[in-house]
Amino acid sequence: MNADHYNDLIQRDAEVLWHPYAAAPVPIPPYAVKSASGTRLTLHDGRQLIDGMSSWWAVIHGYNHPVLNAAMTAQLEDMAHVMFGGLTHELAVLLAEKLLAITPPGLGRVFFCDSGSVAVEVAIKMAIQYWFSLGRPAKKRLLTIRQGYHGDTFATMSVCDPVNGMHHLFSDLLMPQVFAKAPQIPFDGVWDEREIDELRELVETRHEELAAIILEPIVQGAGGMRFYHPQYLRRVRALCDEYDLLLIADEIATGFGRTGELFACNHAGITPDILCLGKALTGGYMSFAATLTKTFISEVISQKGPGMLMHGPTFMANPLACAVALASIGLLENSPWRERIVEIEGLLKAGLEPCRQLPGVKDVRVLGAIGLVETKTPIDVEKVQERVVARGVWLRPFANLCYTMPPFVTRASEVKQITSAICEALS
Ligand SMILES: *Cc1c(COP(=O)(O)O)cnc(C)c1O
Repeated sequence: MNADHYNDLIQRDAEVLWHPYAAAPVPIPPYAVKSASGTRLTLHDGRQLIDGMSSWWAVIHGYNHPVLNAAMTAQLEDMAHVMFGGLTHELAVLLAEKLLAITPPGLGRVFFCDSGSVAVEVAIKMAIQYWFSLGRPAKKRLLTIRQGYHGDTFATMSVCDPVNGMHHLFSDLLMPQVFAKAPQIPFDGVWDEREIDELRELVETRHEELAAIILEPIVQGAGGMRFYHPQYLRRVRALCDEYDLLLIADEIATGFGRTGELFACNHAGITPDILCLGKALTGGYMSFAATLTKTFISEVISQKGPGMLMHGPTFMANPLACAVALASIGLLENSPWRERIVEIEGLLKAGLEPCRQLPGVKDVRVLGAIGLVETKTPIDVEKVQERVVARGVWLRPFANLCYTMPPFVTRASEVKQITSAICEALS
């Protein structure tokens, strides 16, 4: 509760730390969090903020949840970690069974890893190895849509948006991939078959060199916060089937209810061949991720040279992470999450709609428990952050986007406080 201690921390942070996507020291001083509970962050000087970010999509049940705390502390008594090479454990088996039961039907095998980027790396490796094992090594490129985001490691950077993907500096070093324009028809827009023309043409002309199509289903997150039409996804699924391409769905941001369906693929009723999960998998408690695949892929890779998937993170299937992931999924299943998302969606729509009238605003978009205001020019992050923090809300705008994806347990009054903070901060 003491301002000296707070300022001392910020100063020492500036001396030794590097923050995400930032210079060092970070030019806009960070806010120092002492603890978090429910929907609230408590700063070291005693200020309390409603978390409108769910710590980047992850904290769906809120912080310091008694059920999640109990799952992790109970697991600590058994084992915090054990290697997964040559060993297995009950929670890994249970969690894999659970994930296969709740994800779109047809997936059959789970590879656990330690972060979302790694889950995408593994998905890409699976796709390339699959065609290699089938004696078609020329099929090694990926087709994706612009304005995507799939992570920060080298293979994932190659499928991020080549312009706004935050990685253009590395472009010479990245695997050259094939890009189609981003879908234009919004989630609830009127479908037009021409929407898929360019992608279809790329598939028709280049399928011999393509291993897979990779995309974020329905919601393009960090690449622009865009929501596209489910029919697009159905057309992509059909093209993959027709032209022998695998479909990789990156649901690291959308998984576990965020869009109003348990998985965004459910909006289109499709099953990808490979599915990446992360972020909310542990309810935001630990870094953990999973790559799920159909068994025809694991069978081909396992039966023909090199006969194994060439990947194995040290902390693969970490028991603490499995324990808290199982508890988090249990909490979700036993909660009225669908009704909560519908309610949050309505509040976000009502609360953000007035922003449309502001002079600098280009668009307002809401889907499920995701709401955002897109501005015409880049947002002054420092100023907007200061203004929302002064109104008791935590948000982290980027580029032209001021967005919120609050925990599912956020109360109506708190959602209203978030949306009015956004409107006031942008006006
Ligand atoms: C966050 C994110 C990733 C990367 O996950 P990390 O855990 O940060 O490595 C990949 N894809 C999507 C869609 C994401 O939102």
